[in-house]
Amino acid sequence: MQSLHIQRLYAGGLITNYYCSASCKHCLYGSSPSWQKEYMSPDTLDRLCRTMKRLGCHAVHIGGGEPLLNWELLQQVLQKLQEQRVAVEYVETNASWLRSHEQAKGILGRLLSLGVNTLLISISPFHSEYVPLQKVKQLIEACHSAGMQVFPWQEQFYKELTARSMDHTHSLEQWEEQFGPGYVRSLIRRFGLILRGRALLYYQSQVPHRSTAQLVAESSGCSELADTGDFHLDLYGSYLPGACSGLAVAVEDLGRPLDPQRYPNLTALYNHGVKGLLDVAADVGFRPEPSYASKCHLCMDIRTYLVQDVDWDTRELQPRQYYEQAGAGLNS
Ligand code: SF4
Repeated sequence: MQSLHIQRLYAGGLITNYYCSASCKHCLYGSSPSWQKEYMSPDTLDRLCRTMKRLGCHAVHIGGGEPLLNWELLQQVLQKLQEQRVAVEYVETNASWLRSHEQAKGILGRLLSLGVNTLLISISPFHSEYVPLQKVKQLIEACHSAGMQVFPWQEQFYKELTARSMDHTHSLEQWEEQFGPGYVRSLIRRFGLILRGRALLYYQSQVPHRSTAQLVAESSGCSELADTGDFHLDLYGSYLPGACSGLAVAVEDLGRPLDPQRYPNLTALYNHGVKGLLDVAADVGFRPEPSYASKCHLCMDIRTYLVQDVDWDTRELQPRQYYEQAGAGLNS
């Protein structure tokens, strides 16, 4: 049995908070307004910085949730990163906090003074369910006038989102009516979505399923877990392996092989893929559905069972709120 061993961190970000002003249907981390209003503390950030630097990473982006929902604590985080000599590549935002050009310019000026030169601004039909495009436009204008660079994510959607009133939010159903059948499904490819987290729950009924027997027969170790090319570290002191939301490693356990006793599910997934996890879960009563959209769908179903039905409180199935919040907003 091999242990997952994260030896170096290449590029990644900090999740300062999971709560958000939106519950976007493509959100990998299941953020929503109903998460607890918890934010990254200076002590946790110190621990994260020490580990990142020890493993070779000296620059991060900041994301969430919506990091600007707590302006005071975001400034504290940025000050601490400056002290720790960790550069900030960009801060992500959905622009929901914008009230006026002057207010935005004030915030942008302060961000610039704290070493942030680029703002990633979310632009997509998913965000348009919660944030009117007008706010996005005003924030881009404020960035231009304050001297802040803009990383529009994703620019390809801006023009088509002007097809409806920019002063209002619009549902994905309205965009489907606007642009025709198949539009929402085409976003999987166009956005480059990873179908995990809430994106998986939202799209799982719209994509072909494969039999569980087939998925298990093809199962092999999930090498995705070792990918540190776009890693995330969160406010709870966790490293989130791969883009496998809902799985976590205590940051202090990075840089050495993971103890299989402390991380039985991650060890099973790393060695045998979803078949390994299914074997663990079968022992505690899990019975799979006949088919799933993907191995990650089966993985999510098993992990949700372990957290919610078995109440398995382990360091690796974290944050536990993720398993409640991943489906938030899907029925609205
Ligand atoms: S099956 Fe689970 S561990 Fe493997 S890539 Fe998918 S979400 Fe990650």
